[in-house]
Amino acid sequence: MAAEKGADHQTMEASRDVLKSTQTIIHEALEKLGYPEEVYELLKEPVRMLTVKIPVRMDDGTVKIFTGYRAQHNDAVGPTKGGVRFHPDVTENEVKALSIWMTLKCGIVNLPYGGGKGGIICDPRKMSFRELENLSRGYVRAISQIVGPTKDIPAPDVFTNSQIMAWMMDEYSRIDEFNSPGFITGKPLVLGGSHGRESATAKGVTICIREAARKKGIDLKGARVVIQGFGNAGSFLAKFMHDAGAKVIGISDAYGALHDPEGLDIDYLLDRRDSFGTVTTLFKNTITNKELLELDCDILVPAAIENQITEENAHNIRAKIVVEAANGPTTLEATEILTNRGILLVPDVLASAGGVTVSYFEWVQNNQGYYWTEEEVEEKLEKVLVQSFNTVYNTSRSRRVNMRLAAYMIGVRRVAEASRFRGWI
Ligand code: GLU
Repeated sequence: MAAEKGADHQTMEASRDVLKSTQTIIHEALEKLGYPEEVYELLKEPVRMLTVKIPVRMDDGTVKIFTGYRAQHNDAVGPTKGGVRFHPDVTENEVKALSIWMTLKCGIVNLPYGGGKGGIICDPRKMSFRELENLSRGYVRAISQIVGPTKDIPAPDVFTNSQIMAWMMDEYSRIDEFNSPGFITGKPLVLGGSHGRESATAKGVTICIREAARKKGIDLKGARVVIQGFGNAGSFLAKFMHDAGAKVIGISDAYGALHDPEGLDIDYLLDRRDSFGTVTTLFKNTITNKELLELDCDILVPAAIENQITEENAHNIRAKIVVEAANGPTTLEATEILTNRGILLVPDVLASAGGVTVSYFEWVQNNQGYYWTEEEVEEKLEKVLVQSFNTVYNTSRSRRVNMRLAAYMIGVRRVAEASRFRGWI
């Protein structure tokens, strides 16, 4: 009996290993596309993975050694691209999986990049501004040999923002002895950032929600929306949904969740949130994140972290559409359960690709030294995402697969082709 329990536990643990589950879908996608096994062997892990130790002088005078990573999944299509995450739970495998997801995102929205990703094990909520600056600069010094505007271009991710990008850009510019805005994206406007970059992930999610609602015959006006997470993606999304006439009935942060069936006062919440998206600590009547996910609603948007919808709660999800704004919020098993229950699941690699799309626009503007208006950025983003959504949706219909597998098939195809043309496989 005990052994059986152990085995169950192991299967569950494996299903939550984001690298393993990503590899499973990549394998399935390549098989469906008819590629030989060696293509999978090349694409199942990043081609390059750097682990670094970053010494930081803390405010109390002690030196703390942080561990960081930079993964470059595949550079056959172009330089690698992807954010840097500051989080206590960062692991090597997670960074690897995140870099593969970036390859898929870039493939789906057709950007001339492969996937990259970085992460540092730290808790920025417990660090001072000066400590964060030292850590950001130390990380850039440690990875400087493998990154650069034509090699690998970092960007913001969980708990990193435009200020951190500015420090990183400044540090790289000193090493490079040039002003190098194209080294990193998600910068402040005054340092070569792009209009619309900050809200780009949420804009992309909004476009996917609108398209998915159309397919499901749901009117966005009055639709009940639940958003898990109130960080960069979740908070902008709450605003966009509210502006579109939807009723945001639930939101959450790392500490709890708020629920009001009549609709929450989004402007008030936006005003009160801190830079890490914390807002629920100000309220007494909170519910748990678990309860939030199971609320009766039309559209559910997990916009926080991995493994939130699993085989344990997938049967209790009451939304008609689930749109993944976070990376990896739904496990493989849960994807299957939701699909079998007729819930339309728009996968992360499509729904959250708005961020990297506008990052690409930012990089193009930096390379040209010619800057676009907000309207130009929005118009281009709209076009890219509507087209990508429909390509994935139509592929999922014609190949009779769920939208995640369809997205993987489209995302992996280009990098496989490019690797082949280069004579790598
Ligand atoms: N961190 C974001 C993502 O996961 C954006 C990456 C980028 O802009 O390069 O898509």
